[in-house]
Parts: sequence; C-alpha cells; structure tokens
Amino acid sequence: ATILAIESSCDETSAAVCRNGEIVSNIIATQAVHQQYGGVVPELASRAHMQNILPVVQQALQAAQCELQTVDAIAYTQAPGLIGALLVGSGFAKSLALALDKPLIAVHHMQAHVLANLIGERRPAFPFLCLTVSGGHTQIVRCDSPLQMTVIGETLDDAAGEAFDKSAKLIGLPYPGGPLIDKYAQQGKPIYKFAEPQIQGLDFSFSGLKTSILYFLQKAQKENPEFVQQELANICASVQHSIIQILIKKLMKAAKETGIKEICVAGGVSANSGLRKALQATGERFHWNTYMPAFEYCTDNAGMIAIAAYYKYLDGQFSSLDASPSARASW
Ligand code: ATP
Ligand code: MG
Ligand code: FE
Repeated sequence: ATILAIESSCDETSAAVCRNGEIVSNIIATQAVHQQYGGVVPELASRAHMQNILPVVQQALQAAQCELQTVDAIAYTQAPGLIGALLVGSGFAKSLALALDKPLIAVHHMQAHVLANLIGERRPAFPFLCLTVSGGHTQIVRCDSPLQMTVIGETLDDAAGEAFDKSAKLIGLPYPGGPLIDKYAQQGKPIYKFAEPQIQGLDFSFSGLKTSILYFLQKAQKENPEFVQQELANICASVQHSIIQILIKKLMKAAKETGIKEICVAGGVSANSGLRKALQATGERFHWNTYMPAFEYCTDNAGMIAIAAYYKYLDGQFSSLDASPSARASW
C-alpha cells in the first residue's frame, strides 16, 4: 500500500510517502517566522502552513516518484496540536481524499512520535517502553502493538523540551534553545547542581528545575556580570545533565516495574546527543535493547504520521470525512 501523510500540528509543515511500511520520502519545512517572537505564534503558524502545504506535498510525491493517483490512502495528524495549524493539514488531506476518492486516516501525533521507532531496519519488539520527550509532552508509553499504547507516566507541569527552551531563554539563547544547549554542552562539564524534583511514581516535573536555574543565574550574575559568557559551556552542560538525569531515572524505574527491556526514545528532545549517550550507557548497564529514531524522525515529521497510518490501514481503521481535528487528544 502507498500512503501519503501530512503533519501540521505545530511549526513544521511536512509530507511523507510510505510504501508497504517503508518511508520513501519525508519533506519537512520548518517555519522560521517564529524565531523573532521567542516561541510559536499560532496565527502565524497557520498562515505558514497554508503557504507551505502544497509545495511540501508536491516535493514529497516527487521525491518518492509517486503519482498522486497511485496513492491508496491519505493520512493526517488529527490531534493534539495547535487547532489552526491542524485545520490546515486536515482540510488539505480531506480535500485530497474526496477528490481522489481514497480513504482518509486520522493519526494521533503522540502515538506517531512513539511509532517513529518502527521506521528503518532495526525495530523494537513488542511490548516496548518509549520515553517520548517533545516540545509539549513528556511521557513514558507502554506499547503492546502499533495500535495499542498506554501512557504510564507523564509530566505534571513543563515538558522536557520546554525545560530546555525555557532554560535557554534564561541563559539568553534564542528560540528554540534546546539544540543550542546541546551544542554548547558538548564543550562543557556539568559542574553546577540544581534542585531535583521529588515526584512519586513514573510522573515528571520540570518547573522546580527552571526556578532553580533562574535563582542560580541571578546570584552568579550579581557576583560576576560576565558569568554567563564565561561559563556558557559549563552552564549548558549542567542544565542538560540535570534534565537527562530526571528522564533516565524515571525510565529506569519504568523498566524495573514493567520488566520490559526493549526501550525506545522519541520526540524532539530525543535528538539530544547527551540523552542519546545516556540511553545507550544505561541500556548497557541494565542489558536493555535500546532504540532511537534517526534525527529526521525525532522532531515533527510526516514520516512518523505515515508509519502510524500504515498500521491503521492494515487494520482498516479509516476516518470519516466529517471528522474534525482537536487541540487535545485522548488515548
Ligand atoms: P509535541 O510533539 O509535544 O506536540 P512538538 O512537536 O513541538 O511538541 P518536537 O518537534 O517533537 O515538539 O520537539 C521540539 C522540541 O525539541 C523543542 O523543545 C526543541 O528545543 C527540542 N529539541 C530539538 N532538538 C534538541 C536537542 N538536540 N537537544 C535538546 N532539545 C532539542
Ligand atoms: Mg516544532
Ligand atoms: Fe511533536
């Protein structure tokens, strides 16, 4: 089966083509317009999706050498995300499905992040655990099949990506700061310590860390106004280390409690080099089989929507033309 998938939940306009479970093209247009505002502006995201969606879909089809008429189903991100952004992708997908008389498949964005681990040669066996760390979510998901997933832990406040981005803002780095913290951290050492959250069970909290970093920087800059410039690499390494420790600790707890040793990561923060190293090291220590998506399938992309849609297609799970997207989503 050939599936054309569209992702438009936030600030990436993306289209991908999947043939029999293999991703043959994955085009991603990242919207630069938000950088000057220090965060995603929903109205501007919708407008940029409108401008990008046709060329992005055309490029995805072309890169896959795929004629639109040969597509067997059209998939789109239904939820969660920015409603105006989701409406652009869903409206486009529905129009195509109607015009081509092909079935429509609605995909849950967070489930798709998890299933990005099923793209490529090396795939986890079921059941597996996935630590999904993105801009809006931080979850530990138990995945029993491509169609059956349960959230067993999640953040009570900020997401891990938010923790990276908000810390970066405090340090004075531009948005989105996560990748920049990653870059500078590689030249530094985690010599500064911040408050650790005390949360029971498998849930996460990052708001205390953010406050701790704020107070630390205020105090240090009072004593030495040049502190951030002089110590940038060590500060970034310390922030990154703290976030990773919080994540890995809960992942270890989840693995122990479930007895599952197939362990994956997903979402934008899974592109972080420190987290990838920590996952590998922890995996070796506890004899886990660890998996991480290739970089292009970590942050938002239509490839992951296409792979999620492929399993729904095999199971005959189609969406009606009058289904509407929603900002929030249930599992
Ligand atoms: P959600 O999926 O929860 O709706 P989102 O789709 O906006 O949110 P993603 O695109 O998956 O989130 O990830 C974006 C986040 O990933 C941002 O917070 C960004 O800073 C972070 N990120 C990307 N690369 C890195 C990196 N190398 N190190 C740390 N954080 C990173
Ligand atoms: Mg994004
Ligand atoms: Fe996402």
